[in-house]
Amino acid sequence: MTELKSTLTCPKCREASTETMPTNACRFFYDCPHCSEKLRPLAGDCCVFCSYGDVPCPPIQEARANGTPAKCC
Ligand SMILES: [Zn+2]
Repeated sequence: MTELKSTLTCPKCREASTETMPTNACRFFYDCPHCSEKLRPLAGDCCVFCSYGDVPCPPIQEARANGTPAKCC
């Protein structure tokens, strides 16, 4: 089962917000609803969910489940 909800924690204000992840695209930009900080993925990460979420994006989840190298969309 692919988890489609991820809780993002803003690195600036430390507030968390739960977002639904798209299955067919990466979310590269995310505006924090608490402080309006524009979040971008950390170096080496494909999307904001991999960098700031408690659950990585669906393609990464599938790669982990299948034991294949992590590859983003
Ligand atoms: Zn914030």
